[in-house]
Amino acid sequence: MNKKITIAIDGFSSTGKSTLAKQLANHLGYIYVDTGAMYRAVTLFAMQNGYINAESFDKQTLITSLPNIKLQFKFNADLGFGEMYLNGVNVETEIRTIEVSSFVSKVAEVSEVRAKLVEQQKEMGKDKAIVMDGRDIGTVVFPDAELKIFMTASATTRAQRRYDELVAKGDAVTFEEVLKNVEERDYIDTHRKDSPLVMAEDAMEIDNSHLNRKEQFDLVLELVNEITKTI
Ligand code: C5P
Repeated sequence: MNKKITIAIDGFSSTGKSTLAKQLANHLGYIYVDTGAMYRAVTLFAMQNGYINAESFDKQTLITSLPNIKLQFKFNADLGFGEMYLNGVNVETEIRTIEVSSFVSKVAEVSEVRAKLVEQQKEMGKDKAIVMDGRDIGTVVFPDAELKIFMTASATTRAQRRYDELVAKGDAVTFEEVLKNVEERDYIDTHRKDSPLVMAEDAMEIDNSHLNRKEQFDLVLELVNEITKTI
């Protein structure tokens, strides 16, 4: 039997990381972890408690409240992936709104938030057989991952994908609003002090502006097969 490995998928917002990660996890029988959902759930908690809004961000109170935040993924067999639960409540839909997207990068800059989530992520991956997507997986969470993918695509391609998803869900957003959010998150994610979004030296870069889902999946699956054959 092939050996189980750790697959780290990083990259900019809306590059299709989670689509690829879910496909791989389902095909390989691995666990899939969407770390963006964890940062989004902490952001939702901060919003619900009034710690963050358009005018202000009370970082210190959020940091003090971190022990009160319990995050869990519960597998939904119909969807084929684990949904995010915040303190026992399914928040999978709520964490995907543009409002949460507009605050999440500010929350993800806070080192204490990162430390808490990275610790949980490392624990989830201790037995390997995991595909995790995010911004710092190949650099911070699993620097020894056997396969690291870094995904990119132009900002307009990514904004169009996110816009189509939000509109399909019935959200009243404009393309300009979504593009602005994608660009702002890119900026904050790449410029923050703690664990900025950078490509790991040993990562394989995939620009999927012109790749369809199947082409992308086949490309990465070939890499997985090469690695598992040799270890
Ligand atoms: O992946 P997704 O777009 O849902 O992530 C939302 C935000 O969470 C990112 O823009 C980033 O600010 C933050 N994030 C992070 N580190 C991760 C995953 C997400 O900082 N590993």
